Amino acid sequence: GKGKWKEFDKRDLLLTYNALKVLEARYLLKDPNTLRYIETPQMMFRRVAKFLASVEKSYGKSDNDAKQLEEKFYEIMSELKFLPNTPTLMNSGTRLGILSACFVIPVRDSMITSNGEGIYDALRAMAVVHQQGGGTGFDFSELRPKGDIVASTAGVASGPVSFMRIFDVSTDVVKQGGKRRGANMGVMHVWHPDIDDFIKAKTGQLKDTQLQNFNISVGVYDYFMNAVERSDVVPLVNPRKTKIPGKEWEYYIAKARGYITEDWIQEVILSELEEKGGAVYLDESKIITVDEALVIAEKEGAITQWVNARQLFEEIVKGAWDSGDPGLLFIDTINRRHPTWYLGKINATNPCGEEPLLPWESCNLGSINLEKFVIERDGKPTIDWDGLAETIKYAVRLLDNVIDANRYPLKQIEEATKRTRKVGLGVMGLARMLIKLGIPYDSVDAVYLSYQLAKFIYYQAFKESIEIAKEKGSFPAYDSKLYRDIWESAKSFDEILEIVGIKDKPSEYIKRLTFIVDKLDFDKLKEDRIKYGLRNATVVSVAPTGTISIIAGTSSSIEPLFALAFIRNVAVGKFMEIDPLFLEYLRKYELDNPEVVKKVAETGMIGDNLFMPKTMRKIFRTAHEVPPEYHLLHQAVWQQWNDSGTSKTINLKSEEPPETVEKVYLLAWKLGIKGVTVYRDKSKSQQVIYFGIKK
Ligand code: ADP
Repeated sequence: GKGKWKEFDKRDLLLTYNALKVLEARYLLKDPNTLRYIETPQMMFRRVAKFLASVEKSYGKSDNDAKQLEEKFYEIMSELKFLPNTPTLMNSGTRLGILSACFVIPVRDSMITSNGEGIYDALRAMAVVHQQGGGTGFDFSELRPKGDIVASTAGVASGPVSFMRIFDVSTDVVKQGGKRRGANMGVMHVWHPDIDDFIKAKTGQLKDTQLQNFNISVGVYDYFMNAVERSDVVPLVNPRKTKIPGKEWEYYIAKARGYITEDWIQEVILSELEEKGGAVYLDESKIITVDEALVIAEKEGAITQWVNARQLFEEIVKGAWDSGDPGLLFIDTINRRHPTWYLGKINATNPCGEEPLLPWESCNLGSINLEKFVIERDGKPTIDWDGLAETIKYAVRLLDNVIDANRYPLKQIEEATKRTRKVGLGVMGLARMLIKLGIPYDSVDAVYLSYQLAKFIYYQAFKESIEIAKEKGSFPAYDSKLYRDIWESAKSFDEILEIVGIKDKPSEYIKRLTFIVDKLDFDKLKEDRIKYGLRNATVVSVAPTGTISIIAGTSSSIEPLFALAFIRNVAVGKFMEIDPLFLEYLRKYELDNPEVVKKVAETGMIGDNLFMPKTMRKIFRTAHEVPPEYHLLHQAVWQQWNDSGTSKTINLKSEEPPETVEKVYLLAWKLGIKGVTVYRDKSKSQQVIYFGIKK
C-alpha cells in the first residue's frame, strides 16, 4: 500500500551519500541484460529479511511466524541497527549461494589428495569461494620446505612461499562476481624451516609487489614468546619428516624445553585422553610423552636447525614496521580459548583475523551499530541497553538462519560448517558512540565501556543461542561436558590495566552508565547451556566492517575515527568530506567555516591546533594519534568476551621506531589477544583492504 512506500522512502533517507554510492556500485541487484537496477536499498533489506526468515518454515513454523520474523529482520537492517556481512547482503535470494565471509581451507603437503585437501585442491576451493565473495585463510606450514626432496619426481620442492604466489595470482584473476577482489590470510607457523622467507615475503622491495592479496601472519606459540624473552633457541622442523598427525609436535618439544606449562597439557591432552578414552595427537591409538616425542623428532631427522628466537622475532618486527606484514597469531591463546577444542587444533584464521577456524569451517558475520544505541534521557546521552538486547536477539537468529540458507560450494565446507554452526556477531560505530557520549577513545573510561559492552553483547548473544537450541536443537558437535565456556578464562578489567601499567581507574560516571552489566548472571547462563544446549559453537566475533560500516554510515568496528575531514578527488571535481559529528561540534563552537575545515582536511585530524577547543581535541583524536596501548586495550577487552577473534589494526604514526612494534607485539601476547597487526602510516603505497575511504 501507499503508506508502506512512504515508510520505505523515509528509511532510504537514513542512508548517507557514501552508503548509496557503495550500494549502487556493488549491492543492489541489476537486470543482467539491461543492467538496470531492479531494486532499491529498502528492497535489498527486504530481500535479505524475507530469504532468511523463510528458513523458519523448514523448522515447522507457520507462514505467519515467518512473516513476523521477516518484519523484525527488516526492521533492524533498515534502521541500520544491524547489518549482516557483505555476502549475505549481496547474495541472499540470488543465484550466488555463499552468504558467509570467512573460510579456512586446509593445505596438505601433496599436489592433490583423494579427500580434496592437496595444494591444488585448496586452490580450486579458494577460487570458488572468492568468486562468490568470501575470504579465505590458509595455514601453509604443512608444506615441505624449499629444497626438500620430492620423491615422485626426484626433484626439489619449491617451498610454501612460492606456492602462495600461485594463490595470489589466482586471487587477482578471479573477481568476485565482478564486484570485489578476493582477500586471503596466509599463515606459517614459527617452527617451519622456511619461516625466514615467509617473514620477508612482503617487506623491503617486495612490499608493494608480492602477495598483494594476502595478509600474512606468523603462527607463534607461548614457548616461542617465552624463548624470545629469554633469548633462547627454538627448533625448526621439517613437517614432511615427522609423522605426528596434525604436526602437534611443537607442544611436545616446547614442553621438553620447559616452555609450556603443565596446565596446558593437562587441560588439553590429558582431559581428552580421559574423556575420550583414546589418543589424540601422536598416533591414532597412543599418546606419547613430550620427551618421547622429542626423541622421535630427532630420530626422524625432522629438526633441521636450532635458531635464536629473539633474532627471529626481530625479523618479524622489522617486517611489520616496514610494511605492516607479518602480523602474529597466538596459536596457544587461540586454542586455549577455543570452545570446541575437542574437535581439533586451530591453525589459521580468515583474512582479517576475527575468525579462528578449523579446516573447512566457515563463519558468517553481522555487526550491531553501537551508535544507534546512544539515546537522550533527561537531556543527557545514555545507552539504550534494552534496545541493544532486543537487536542482539534478532541478529543472532538471523545469523543462525544464514547457516541453513547458505548454498555451500563444497561438501567439506558444508559438513564442517554445519557441525559447529559458528556465527559471529560483532559491532561497528564504537568510536562514534564514544563521541556521542563525550568520552575520548584513549581513556580508561572508554576501555571500560568497551569491556562492559563486550560482556553484555556476549551474554545476550549466548543466551539467544541457548533459546534457539531449545527450539531447533544444539549444533551437532555440541558436547555439554567438553564445551569450554570462554568467560571462565576472561581476564578482569583490573588485570588488563595492570598488564599495561595504567594506574587510572574508571570513573563513577562510566560505572553507573554500565552497572546493568555487573548484574548479568553467567553461572545461570552455564546452567541453562548444560540443561538446554547451545545452537552455535561460537556466537560473537569483532569484524572490521570495512564496507558495511559505510552502508550504516558509522565508524568501522571498534576502531577510532580514521579522519575527521578529507579531500576526495572524483571525476567531476574535488570534494571536501567532513565527519558529521565533527561538523556538529564545529557548529556548536561556531567554528564551521571553510578555513578551519580545510586546515583539518589537510591532515585529517585536529592535531595540535591550539585554536581548537580542548574538548574537541580530546574527543576527536584519530587512529594515528591514539597511543598504541589504547588501541591494544580496546582490542584486548573485546577479546576477553569473545569466543572467536577480534580484528583490529594497531595504527601507528609514521615516525614510530621498530621498538614500538616490538612492544605492541609483546604486549598483545600478554593481554591475551589472539592476533595482532600493526600499520604504520605511509609505510605502503597501497593497502590491502581497508582505509579504502582515505584515498
Ligand atoms: P564487510 O564490511 O564487507 O561485511 P568486513 O570488512 O567486516 O566485511 O570483513 C569481514 C570478512 O569478510 C573479512 O575478514 C574477510 O574474511 C571477508 N572479506 C572482506 N573483504 C573481502 C574481499 N575483498 N574479498 C574476500 N573476502 C573479504
